[in-house]
Parts: sequence; structure tokens; C-alpha cells
Amino acid sequence: MKYILPLLSLFAINIAVAQEFEKCYTHRAMLHQEELTPGYLQSVNETFDRAKQLSTGERGVVYTIPVVVHIVYNTPEQNLHDSVVFNQIDRLNEDFRRLNVDTLNTRTEFSTIVGDAEIEFVLATEDPDGNPTNGITRTSTTQTSFTGVGGFPAEGVKMTSEGGIDPWNTQDYLNIWVCEMSVWGFTSLLGYATPPNNLPHWPAGASDNLIDGVVIQYNAFGGNNPNTLDVGNGPIDVQGRTCVHEVGHYLGLRHIWGDGDCNEEDGIDDTPNAMDQSNQDCNHVINDCVDNIGTLGDLPNMVENYMDYSEETCQNSFTVGQVDMMRSILENYRYELINGTPAGIANEEAFNLNVFPNPSNDFVTVTGIPEGKGTLEIMSETGQLVKMIENPPSTIEINGLVKGIYFLRVNSEQGVVSRKLVIL
Ligand code: ZN
Ligand code: CA
Repeated sequence: MKYILPLLSLFAINIAVAQEFEKCYTHRAMLHQEELTPGYLQSVNETFDRAKQLSTGERGVVYTIPVVVHIVYNTPEQNLHDSVVFNQIDRLNEDFRRLNVDTLNTRTEFSTIVGDAEIEFVLATEDPDGNPTNGITRTSTTQTSFTGVGGFPAEGVKMTSEGGIDPWNTQDYLNIWVCEMSVWGFTSLLGYATPPNNLPHWPAGASDNLIDGVVIQYNAFGGNNPNTLDVGNGPIDVQGRTCVHEVGHYLGLRHIWGDGDCNEEDGIDDTPNAMDQSNQDCNHVINDCVDNIGTLGDLPNMVENYMDYSEETCQNSFTVGQVDMMRSILENYRYELINGTPAGIANEEAFNLNVFPNPSNDFVTVTGIPEGKGTLEIMSETGQLVKMIENPPSTIEINGLVKGIYFLRVNSEQGVVSRKLVIL
């Protein structure tokens, strides 16, 4: 994790190399979350790997995600007009459906690996209480900027108690907060998002620190934003793609350069790799890592990709591999957004599994296993399978196992649920 930079060097980067700025806090937020809740990164990585394994690559069903946009404002300029929100939603829909006109600018070498995500976004029409809504909340705040709670840049915007506004049910809605988040005194970060973890339950404590959703700097939101965004190099051409990028993170995608050098990658097979932060311009010549992408071999840096840091006017594509990942996340982890049922992964709410007594030393009783087919597995702390029973009875003998910490997991058609089991 070479990417951790102390605060001072972050300033130095912004001053010394005026063209480079860190637009997105997602990766940093993940590193900080790991400090607060050890095991968080592993959990995120497991979710990613599992979603990749479970990806079917199927298309044909368009998923629709209900969105609530929380406008939290201290000045009239920050209180963005509804039309800016509508424009942003249109941008999400065009880009995720590959209906954006600038797909014409996708270079031919990428033409076989870019795709339509078949994911759409709609402002919520019903609030969590069942009342009609336009999917936009407006909150006047005394906070001149959200500079951070618990070491996260703008987490306070997600909390009514901090001058922001609490989320709507994060399982049923994509919450997008829009505010002034000029962190540490300069406007550099334009947004951050929470990656899908082992939803709906994150590791113990994680949800105390990091609330699920997306935060966008107010003048980087929407393609028709009347405010100027300038981080020191003159006005940036804002097209609403900060939000596209952050929703990409929210649906499981990583930065295309893998948040590291050529040795780090994003885990997606068809995205070309690149150096740290890739390019922040629209360089169509640079090729700074050697890739091996199927029959395409080595490709140049893909500045067209929404998950790069390239200029918004240069971005126009997700790859097929990225689409596979986002759809698998929706099918298996964020399935409640699309009114789905989990397609077969760890889902703590699939059924209510009870294991007792726990700790134990000779047998445990297991209740809540769904009717019909199911498999019970007991794994060691290091993940080694030590016992497997098809169609398990309710009483399981464990007296042959050495004492220690285990995980008891039940796989059923309704999902997979696991419990920690201590053997004395
Ligand atoms: Zn990012
Ligand atoms: Ca390359």
C-alpha cells in the first residue's frame, strides 16, 4: 500500500505539480477505514473476488437503481437547481448505457472491449416512509464546508447531527450527497464513494465510520452546473463524470491504474494498466505499462475510461470486464437496489442461522437452515475445510476438532450464511 501519503506531501503535490490533483478520495478512505476497522480491506477484496467469480457475463436485463440526491448547502450557489440534478441523472444514464455521443471518440483499439452496462438510474419517487418524493432533499447547513469526521473528508454531510442529512435506507437507495467539501482548505477532492463490502452487514464497526453512498463536490456535479470549478489550473470542463466515476466505485470498480504502479492493477481483465493516477489529461499516445489483454496484447493507457483520472471530456467508456463486475455486484451484493434476491452469495439476511451453545466442546445445535437442500461446512480460522455435511441434522458433533476459532457456513439455495464458532 504505497499510496499512503502524509497530509503535508499532499499539499506539496498540489503546489509543486499544479496539473496533478487528487480528484477522488475513495481509495484513501478505504485505507483509513482499514486503520479504524482492521479486516475491512480484506473484506472488500473478498467481495470483489467473489463478485468476479459469480459474474455470469449475461446481458439483456436492464437494472434500474433508485437514487436520492441530498443537496446540502451553505450558500445559494451550493443549493443547485433541480435541473442540475436532472442533468446529472441523464449523464449517468447515457454513460452507463453507452448512449453518450462521445463514444465516437473511443479509439478503435478499444472498440471490442467497451460495453453498455445496462444499468439505469432514476430519482426515487417514494421516500423510505412511502411518501411521494422527487428524489431530491435540500438541507440548509451552517457548515461552510464538510472537512471531515473521523478522518474522512466529508462524512459529516451524511449525518444530520453534523449539519448534513442522514441517509435514506442505504440498501434500497443509492444516496448521493452534494456539498462543499473543500478538504483541508483547498478544493481538490471532487468526490468519494463506498465500495460494496459484505453488504448489508459490513465488518463490525465499519458502518459506524463510513456511511454507504457517494459524495460529490457541488461544483463538480451535473453537466450544466452554473458554478466554476477551478483547482488552480483554470476552469475545469465539468460534464458530470465525477459522479459517473464515483458510482463506478460504488458498484465495485477500482481505479483503472490499480492505485499503484505497473505492478498494481484493478483486478479487471480487460482494462489496460497504467502508472500512478495515470494521466490527468487526454494523452492518446502514452503507454506506460505492458499489458497482456487477450488477443489485443498491449494497449495504450485508456484515458477514455471513466475510472481513470483523465479529463472528463476525454472519458467515454466502461469496459466489458468492468460492466461484468458492476452487474455482478448488483446481482449478488447490492441486489436490494434492484429489488432482486441474491444470486448465490454470502447474504446475512438470507436466513436466520443460530448456532448454540457457542463456545462449545462436544456438539452444537444449528437452527434456521432452510428446508431442502443445504450443505454445512466448518472451516478453520485460516479457511481450511475441516468438516462438510450434506443435508445436515440439527445437532452437529464437533468433539473431533481441536480447540480454536472456526467458521460454520451453511450453503443453501437461499444464500450462504456463516457464523463464528469457538471450540473449547
Ligand atoms: Zn476514484
Ligand atoms: Ca499498456
